Amino acid sequence: MKKNPLSLLTIASSKGRVTKRYPFEEPLMTSEFRGKIEIDESKCIGCGACVNACPPNALELLSSSGTKTLRYFIGRCIYCWRCIDVCPVGAIKGTREFELATDDVSDLYELLIHEEAKCSVCNSPYATVRIVRYVATRSPSTEGYVSMDPKCRQEKFVKAIEMRFGGLSA
Ligand code: SF4
Ligand code: SF4
Repeated sequence: MKKNPLSLLTIASSKGRVTKRYPFEEPLMTSEFRGKIEIDESKCIGCGACVNACPPNALELLSSSGTKTLRYFIGRCIYCWRCIDVCPVGAIKGTREFELATDDVSDLYELLIHEEAKCSVCNSPYATVRIVRYVATRSPSTEGYVSMDPKCRQEKFVKAIEMRFGGLSA
């Protein structure tokens, strides 16, 4: 049944004000509230899983002369926390911080710089030093392969198969 607009006014006046006078009062934040993320530099291995999962590309992994930089642009972050779910080493945590306005855009960038590993055969950069260590520690059986880029690794693997089975014939 359609309500008389005047009856809505009566209800509103009996309830009083329900909104907060933010920023003059504390905002209403539930326990599920999500704010900006924090990346623990000591834990991050520079794998890029968070970059692939980030819907608005607020996270990027940039390569340049011997380094890979994980760049977090807070101005693009939608606080979805998908990056937290996919990080294999638990390097990202969510905070309740949201008051991030600034007149200097550089305040909205956070950089994490990783040393890049080079292939032991062809010397091409292919991953971060920390990823190589992480994989080598977790899978000692990959020793001999983990220090190579994907192309050299594939060639070594094919040669190993050929040695074992006397060549691949059609
Ligand atoms: S919280 Fe969401 S939008 Fe922000 S960096 Fe993580 S995945 Fe990207
Ligand atoms: S997923 Fe975790 S370890 Fe990988 S780059 Fe992102 S923060 Fe670093």
